[in-house]
Amino acid sequence: MSKVPSVIHWFRLDLRIHDNLALRNAINEAENRKHLLRPIYVLDPNIKSKIGVNRLRFLIQSLQDLDTNLRKLNSRLYILKGNPVELLPKFFDQWQVKFLTTQVDIDPEIVDQEEAVEKIAEEKDVFIIKRVQHTVYDVYSVLKKNNGAVPLTYQKFMSLVNDIQVKEAKDISKVVSDYCKPTDEDLDAYDVPKLEEFVDESTLTPCKYPGGETEAIKRLNNYMAKKQWVCKFEKPNTSPNSIEPSTTVLSPYLSHGCLSPKLFYHKLKEAESGMKHSDPPVSLMGQLMWREFYYTAGAGTKNFDKMVGNPICMQIPWVKKEEYIKAWAEGKTGYPFVDAIMRQLKQEGWIHHLARHMVACFLTRGDLWVSWEEGAKIFEDYLLDYDWSLNAGNWMWLSASAFFYKYFRVYSPVAFGKKTDKEGLYIRKYVPELKKYPTAFIYEPWKAPKSIQNTAGCIIGEGYPHRIVDHEKIHKENMQKMSSAYRMNKEKKAMKRSIS
Ligand code: FAD
Repeated sequence: MSKVPSVIHWFRLDLRIHDNLALRNAINEAENRKHLLRPIYVLDPNIKSKIGVNRLRFLIQSLQDLDTNLRKLNSRLYILKGNPVELLPKFFDQWQVKFLTTQVDIDPEIVDQEEAVEKIAEEKDVFIIKRVQHTVYDVYSVLKKNNGAVPLTYQKFMSLVNDIQVKEAKDISKVVSDYCKPTDEDLDAYDVPKLEEFVDESTLTPCKYPGGETEAIKRLNNYMAKKQWVCKFEKPNTSPNSIEPSTTVLSPYLSHGCLSPKLFYHKLKEAESGMKHSDPPVSLMGQLMWREFYYTAGAGTKNFDKMVGNPICMQIPWVKKEEYIKAWAEGKTGYPFVDAIMRQLKQEGWIHHLARHMVACFLTRGDLWVSWEEGAKIFEDYLLDYDWSLNAGNWMWLSASAFFYKYFRVYSPVAFGKKTDKEGLYIRKYVPELKKYPTAFIYEPWKAPKSIQNTAGCIIGEGYPHRIVDHEKIHKENMQKMSSAYRMNKEKKAMKRSIS
């Protein structure tokens, strides 16, 4: 065992080198103190049972890329396998850790772990530095600016951040001095595992969005080079069912921290500079600000990812219908547009924002009357870009449980998709059993006469399911239920006010 003490940088979410101030602090500290630098990532050995395979692949690829990039800086990544709260104290002793840097996060599970580690670190005299780098703004400062209250509208949020200067995104590609490089004999034990250690790769769908910082920067630069596209971007005019994505798909890179949101912010400013451009909330900058909005709301709200005990969430008597949840998750509702979206999600790990609108509304207030928490759990499994606050916040929005209250605006699983894809090419790709259906019936195959079903080679009720519910009828009934739930919430609030 080396006698030289260590400095640790703990990669949690920000799997990158650029604009990683906490890593920079660790390098500087190690060099100044002449300590060894050990950049670590703590991997849960049971991760396979906790996240979907596509997200697992994205994570492993991101870790491999991070390791490669660290090696270019004369360092490397150390993968520690276990629970951070049990594991880190052992390494604090074994590696004589004196200094630890990491990032600020708001996901309560991560925050709890961090607090437990911080407590032990304090007992062991390990000095900790945490940096805000997963968001553009320090969300806790934004909350403070609003006297601790959560801004419940985007406009309010924007008024709070309008005058905040966003510091430059730092490149820290600084080569680490030789004397900071550990020379342990068992270095191989800390290598990034291969994906095959977790899953049989031959069972996976082709990888459309490879993980990692290198890919993130490439993707960002490709989009930012299209200045006209950036400046004209208006989210409502992008298509939920184009075969190739109509938005950037930078979300998995932002959620894994492969891409710095501050770098994205400054690149957008640069692209917009001197040009006529769209504005928030619909512009690309506006999209990035939605992310900040939900982070701020998530950081300031108790039980943000739950209905019960969540002060901003409408209490709605959803019903848990397992067969509905299963049919929805597997893309077997009998509504081809909904099914195509859910199958794209399962296969590729990413779907367009408006496609998320469609299926989230369908599962909750629109058709199936299932809790948004159930949908959020399935998204957590399948989404490459799963993000605690964005997922919960958007699910509350779509189920009209918080932020958005026009519950009478329901997406039609038939008409909505037709607006941008009359021919149903998207459905034909992801629901191949319907690919020979005539355009007239592609969104409503149950209306096709038996002879056409026969010619198209798929009988409804045999090769493709019957509709799970009758949208025309059920969405009106559900609107009535929403109306009573809203009334009850209002009455309860009024009662609480009169008591206090
Ligand atoms: P672009 O349109 O290119 O936008 C650029 C970036 O802005 C995105 O990468 C994302 O970081 C941010 N952004 C865009 N739209 C939103 C939004 N509505 N809310 C917050 N940030 C936004 N996004 C996640 O990253 N993780 C999630 O777990 C997640 N769950 C969602 C669940 C539901 C029910 C819904 C309706 C939306 C959810 N979103 C989530 C938000 C949004 O759909 C995705 O961020 C977006 O579609 C990602 O694609 P993109 O990178 O091409 O977006």
